[in-house]
Amino acid sequence: MVKYNNQEFPLLAEAQWAAFFTSVGWKWTYDSKKHGFILDIDTPTLAIVTPADVPELLYAFVIKEKLSDWDKEILILGTKPFDDSWSRQLGLLGEKWYEQGNDSWDYWFEESPLMYCSFCKKLSFYHSQGSYRCRVSGCYDGDGHIGYLDATELDKIWKDAQIKLGLIEPTKAPTFKPKPIHENNTNNKIKPVTDNQASGTLNPIIWNNLHFRSKTEVKIAEAFEKEKVLFFPNCKARLGFTERQNLEPDFLVCHKGKLGIMEIDGSPYHPASRSAHEHKRDRLFLAHGISLVQRFDANECYENPESVVKQFLYLLSQNAR
Ligand SMILES: [Zn+2]
Repeated sequence: MVKYNNQEFPLLAEAQWAAFFTSVGWKWTYDSKKHGFILDIDTPTLAIVTPADVPELLYAFVIKEKLSDWDKEILILGTKPFDDSWSRQLGLLGEKWYEQGNDSWDYWFEESPLMYCSFCKKLSFYHSQGSYRCRVSGCYDGDGHIGYLDATELDKIWKDAQIKLGLIEPTKAPTFKPKPIHENNTNNKIKPVTDNQASGTLNPIIWNNLHFRSKTEVKIAEAFEKEKVLFFPNCKARLGFTERQNLEPDFLVCHKGKLGIMEIDGSPYHPASRSAHEHKRDRLFLAHGISLVQRFDANECYENPESVVKQFLYLLSQNAR
């Protein structure tokens, strides 16, 4: 048993996480019956600590059965946050995935990147393939709220938390202060990167010097790469008849002399309002002479990128225009 904050923990890693949650300001209680933390944040989350010391091992601890007394999001944590070349990972986040047209749902576990939320200015996290909503405060603005978190900074936050726990001796009074990516910005607001490609993304995934918003998009790019087609990923366009505007399709593809757009529907939640907006946007591209606009489900794109790309190219080549 390890004691921290008047709470006894069966595992040392649990005490370390408790210290981490405290240091970043996430309220928590420990539920010894559920063997996990209840994070009292905007999206109440059950965080379960496992002995996984590499991110790949986390999947072995994913809970297949729904818990009878917990129907909110679940986090599967390892012995510490992980660092891959793309981002800093908290662990695996189980988001609720609703079956289309009915109320039944399942957990959808994917990596959960840590970020500095540019709205609430807190260290927060999101679902890498599903909703990008800031789980700590509920902020959402497409990708505009996702601020970059540096690996050395995360390491420092983690170490500082352990110093508080008494596991490490402090070297010289460490302090932790959230640091926005653009320090020179006088109004202290994080300005999204102005770019003609994947604009507004603060921690893009770089693939062949191009910016992507998710691993799903990278998988689709790789599949287009295999097909050796001309494609423009996340490139800004200028269009409109009555009103001119900038829009950024996910993939503009040129295949057999035809131009088509592939959109990846990123969120499992598709409110009718958003879908109407998307259809309007799609029609605008069609009105400008794009032969085909097709939307594919992010999950399908992630699982079967090559088959999605093949379907898309077939539909594009079959298009009469
Ligand atoms: Zn936030």
